Amino acid sequence: MEARIYKSTGSWYVAKGADGTTFKARMKGVFKNKDITSTNPVAVGDYVEIEMEQGDAMITGIHDRRNYIVRESPHGRVKKHIVASNMDQAILVTTVASPRTSQGFMDRFLVTAAAYHIPVILLFNKKDIYREKEIEQYALYEDMYSEIGYTVRLVSATDAVDIAMVKDLLAGKTTLLSGHSGVGKSTLINGVLPASQLKTHAVSGWSGKGQHTTTFAEMFDLEDGGSLIDTPGIRELGIVDIDKAELSHYFLEMQPYISQCRFSSCLHLNEPGCAVRAAVDEGKIYPERYVSYVTILSTLDDKGY
Ligand code: GDP
Ligand code: ZN
Repeated sequence: MEARIYKSTGSWYVAKGADGTTFKARMKGVFKNKDITSTNPVAVGDYVEIEMEQGDAMITGIHDRRNYIVRESPHGRVKKHIVASNMDQAILVTTVASPRTSQGFMDRFLVTAAAYHIPVILLFNKKDIYREKEIEQYALYEDMYSEIGYTVRLVSATDAVDIAMVKDLLAGKTTLLSGHSGVGKSTLINGVLPASQLKTHAVSGWSGKGQHTTTFAEMFDLEDGGSLIDTPGIRELGIVDIDKAELSHYFLEMQPYISQCRFSSCLHLNEPGCAVRAAVDEGKIYPERYVSYVTILSTLDDKGY
């Protein structure tokens, strides 16, 4: 039968069938479509085949992933660690209050998500403690990111009306929840999950105090349909397999200009006839985003384009 992976410990998995039955499953040594390029062959969000063998649930195969996202790994590591798969969207929880999320962090996340074709909602949290300076900073981000095409929302994880709005954003979809420690992810999860699910959370050792020891993702079902994937302990998602030449494609506002550059190999740095640079100069692309582009570009491998 088909089931979906809700939790992985590395040695056993929680899988749920279409009828809601939950299994504690193990992996069969050899199975179909095993991904040998990753450290974890089965990830949260995966659809798998389960067979019962003497009362034990065994994962015997994995269905093709619609998409997946990997964890940041030390440079040069050959194998990737898949954090989650088969997502409809990602919510990046950030705040311009404490601990303030840097724009560089947001832009790296947006690049990664764009590379995996995952739409992102930027959720700015802790609005209740914003003062004039933070309100101005948020307004800049809201203008910039919504102009690019991202959904941007300002919330307080402790506000019932805001939680209801977040529930609407999540309904019927599989959503990855990501963000720095301390921005309010646990508080948000607490707010949107039905009470029955919170118990599971407590049992799995989740303290809500930022003391996450696990680096494994876990998926929770929502009341209005859909699921939320929590990623405790995962500091940052990884930019992998992106060539220098590809990067500007993942800065969505640069896309219309790329083909107008004089050289097809243009990296939009100092090349003559660069349409991206011209768009920055003409105020059509935010200079802050261009700075992020140049910064991320300098961290990527040159694969000979
Ligand atoms: P996580 O590390 O991302 O899971 O963040 P937590 O949910 O543990 O929250 C970190 C701290 O921020 C806790 O002390 C929360 O009570 C606080 N917090 C979370 N959301 C809000 C909010 O909307 N407003 C305020 N003022 N504090 C918040
Ligand atoms: Zn260019």
